[in-house]
Amino acid sequence: MIECSKCVMNDTIREFSLNSKGVCNFCEDWEKKKDYFTNFTDEQIKKNLNSIKSEIKKFNKKNNYDCIIGLSGGTDSSYVVYLAFKMKLKPLIIHMDNGWNSKISNSNINKILEKTNFDYKTLILNWKEFKDLQISFLKAGVPDIEILTDHAIFAYIINFALENNIKYILSGVNFATEHSTIPSWGWRKDDFSHIEKIHKKFGKEKLITFPKMYPFKKFYYEKIKKKIKVINLLDFINYKSIKAKEILKTNFDWDDYGGKHHESFFTKFFQGYILPKKFKIDKRLLHLSCLIRNNEINRNEAVQELKMPNLETQKTLEYENFFKKKLSLSDDEFKSIMLSKPNKHSDYSLDIYNNFIINKIMSITKRILIK
Ligand SMILES: [Zn+2]
Repeated sequence: MIECSKCVMNDTIREFSLNSKGVCNFCEDWEKKKDYFTNFTDEQIKKNLNSIKSEIKKFNKKNNYDCIIGLSGGTDSSYVVYLAFKMKLKPLIIHMDNGWNSKISNSNINKILEKTNFDYKTLILNWKEFKDLQISFLKAGVPDIEILTDHAIFAYIINFALENNIKYILSGVNFATEHSTIPSWGWRKDDFSHIEKIHKKFGKEKLITFPKMYPFKKFYYEKIKKKIKVINLLDFINYKSIKAKEILKTNFDWDDYGGKHHESFFTKFFQGYILPKKFKIDKRLLHLSCLIRNNEINRNEAVQELKMPNLETQKTLEYENFFKKKLSLSDDEFKSIMLSKPNKHSDYSLDIYNNFIINKIMSITKRILIK
């Protein structure tokens, strides 16, 4: 196996390559962009947050809320809520229940809401529809099933923001701990047409209530009409996830749930068992590499962590049984999902969104409009 000398990315990742110094393309990309998202002085961070606050406060003073935050109970979104609390913003918190939340994430959410006294709204996904979608994606054999959850909350928040004239959406998406998108591991989360294509082929239920969003719609309201603006708040503060956890513990009595995005049982089992076993994808490579580049851990600590099993070995069977029971999958169905050939997301895309020229036009227009 060929590995990067700086991080723990390796050649099990299709997009991985090394330069003559033994440093990978992901580390090179990080070096190019890091000054834009990290390395702020304390003074700059203060300035960044003040200017975001005054921009948000200036817009629509009559509304009860000046922004929306989606809260999963995990580190990043919890920390965004913490910052909004410190910045004295008036957010509406939207939390989604997709049926898989862990006890820890629910208790984190309750603790945060109690302490901040922020208003909140819970979006409960229709379980029949969501379950049918998850089974469809499992049968399609594509690696990024989390798109379903990400799409639902994202689409719901944007549609809600548009209907209620709330321009600002504060997001926990961040460069520091989520740098390096790997195209072969995922798909864009704003593309309902992709979800629909897979569901039409493998699903049984009618999708009536599942929130929907399309890239062009988001682009139109965000970049042309300027009715919504998504701010990745953590990109303005030298975000460190380990430190963020400590601050959350101190301020909200928040509990850690282990691995990245393990706040949901589905994510834990999917990332810890199905992804490595079926797709030979170990997401820890990406998360740990980010922590190394972000100076939160050293390479040796990451190597030690990777020696640990992806999911607690003694609990694998218990988790598998719970997973099958919750999705009403028989032993044979689960076995055939695990043994069938992995497929690519692009096998199920509308060509238009997969088109190089269209994506190029969208990104150039975006750049011009941002300037
Ligand atoms: Zn690297």
